[in-house]
Amino acid sequence: LRVVIDSSVCQGHLRCMDKSPDLFDADNQGHGVAPDRDLELDSEIEAARMAVLGCPERAIRIEP
Ligand code: SF4
Repeated sequence: LRVVIDSSVCQGHLRCMDKSPDLFDADNQGHGVAPDRDLELDSEIEAARMAVLGCPERAIRIEP
């Protein structure tokens, strides 16, 4: 599984990074950045799911 941020939708609240700093980063414009790799740990997948639910713009999705 991978977690993906739609940068055309992201508004940069960085709630994703605040809640899951191990998973998400911010770019130099303050938008969320998702890890460019498969999620491996159950804890990462759970954190990604929480980020999907917590993103006010629904910009985050999980892909197979
Ligand atoms: S919480 Fe959503 S809208 Fe806010 S920075 Fe993260 S991906 Fe973007």
